Amino acid sequence: MNKSLSHLRRNIPSVDKILESNEVLPLITLSSRTFVLNLVRQVLNNIRQEFTDGIAKESTDSDIQALILEKLGEEFRHRIQPLLRRVINATGVLLHTNFGRAPLSHEAQKHLTEIAAHYSNLEFDLARGIRGKRDIYADRLLQQILGCEEAIVVNNNAAAVFLILNSLAENGEVLISRGELIEIGDSFRIPDILRKSAAVLREVGTTNKTKLLDYQEAINDRTKMILRVHPSNFRIVGFSSRPNLAELLRLCEASSIPLVEDLGSGCLVDLSPFGIEDEPNPKTSIEAGVAVICFSGDKLLGGPQSGVIAGKAEFVQKIRRNPLFRALRVDKLTLAALEATLLSYLKNRQALEIPLIQMIHLSAESIEKRAKAIMEKFSALDSKLACHMTDGFSMIGGGSTPNYGLHTKLISLRSLRLSASKIEYQLRMSELPILTRVEKDSVLIDLRTVFPEDDARVVEAVMKLSDSIQ
Ligand SMILES: *Cc1c(COP(=O)(O)O)cnc(C)c1O
Repeated sequence: MNKSLSHLRRNIPSVDKILESNEVLPLITLSSRTFVLNLVRQVLNNIRQEFTDGIAKESTDSDIQALILEKLGEEFRHRIQPLLRRVINATGVLLHTNFGRAPLSHEAQKHLTEIAAHYSNLEFDLARGIRGKRDIYADRLLQQILGCEEAIVVNNNAAAVFLILNSLAENGEVLISRGELIEIGDSFRIPDILRKSAAVLREVGTTNKTKLLDYQEAINDRTKMILRVHPSNFRIVGFSSRPNLAELLRLCEASSIPLVEDLGSGCLVDLSPFGIEDEPNPKTSIEAGVAVICFSGDKLLGGPQSGVIAGKAEFVQKIRRNPLFRALRVDKLTLAALEATLLSYLKNRQALEIPLIQMIHLSAESIEKRAKAIMEKFSALDSKLACHMTDGFSMIGGGSTPNYGLHTKLISLRSLRLSASKIEYQLRMSELPILTRVEKDSVLIDLRTVFPEDDARVVEAVMKLSDSIQ
């Protein structure tokens, strides 16, 4: 270690001296002594490290003191902010688990805030003045919308699948086609859930082909259920088939075995006008006579994280009686957001009120119009980024409809001085983070998933970035 370096390291003030300084006292008042003490230790360690690594410049004692206080202030401001933040999703992926899946409607936000901030009749029968059940709020709406006899709600669809299996098939066998033994992102694997629910997996058929006869031959005294799983995030194409719903239902009826369907997304709108043909509708399964279905509340339904279990009363009640239901039930915030979301469907206002459904409905022309308006702002302000419009596709995402995209118009950004990944990084690190896609050497902005009221924020962030380019 050279002389000046050891001198500097010796001259880093003590933790106590920093804690007692006038600048630091307000931070202690705003939080606590222990909290600030830990921050000071961390900041001093970082600075010592910078000297050791030779990154720090030669500096005087007062420089060091000022540097410490500056870093401390920065770190403090950072730590007293929430870490969970809103972002602008300009990737064009409508449902992204990493970005919190479906944004809630205004109706859901309003209802959620009202219920969250006050007392409510969550488990209270107002007319009779006695204890009530929290089940009724989603149940009455799901009965209307899906045509089911009964419905309950749990924390998410993974919990729904688990609870159904444990309630209806504990210590028994569950028949599943080998083509449906799927993994959904973040380690939700059907075989693992089955094992944990104490049901025994009985695989039938092959990966690409499962025949009705395969199910038929596998049925025995221990068979408690046939589970059909929507493959969600992948498709087996080409030489592949599985029995249709009606065939499978006939077999189940003849053998007195319930058919259960994990539908994944719970899509209640017809997506075929948008070129998406194979997203199952829960109503179709209920109408056909499936014993129990389940799906996510925050995928194509466009509501809060939750898992809907719906079907015949006999089975739903059995699931409801499982003591584990109590551990997996949803709270009042989820119920409020879900109730408001389902009310939009009941009133047939989903395309007007639910952001996800609105975004699916956006035409490429309307997206183009917004993109043009944004690009005009860039050119007017003499942006150092080259930008042009290009055709592309928005993806549904969230484990839905992997083969289809919605035709969209993309703003493509490029710079001779800054690589696409640097541009992407800078936008991501904006005060209001903007998430984009990088393709080849361009950054792509898809306005389909950007709320129109945020278009100005996109302009602002891109202009700031452009200004920073030397
Ligand atoms: C997404 C999905 C799940 C998991 O649902 P979560 O709501 O994320 O728990 C289960 N099964 C299928 C078929 C899915 O697509």
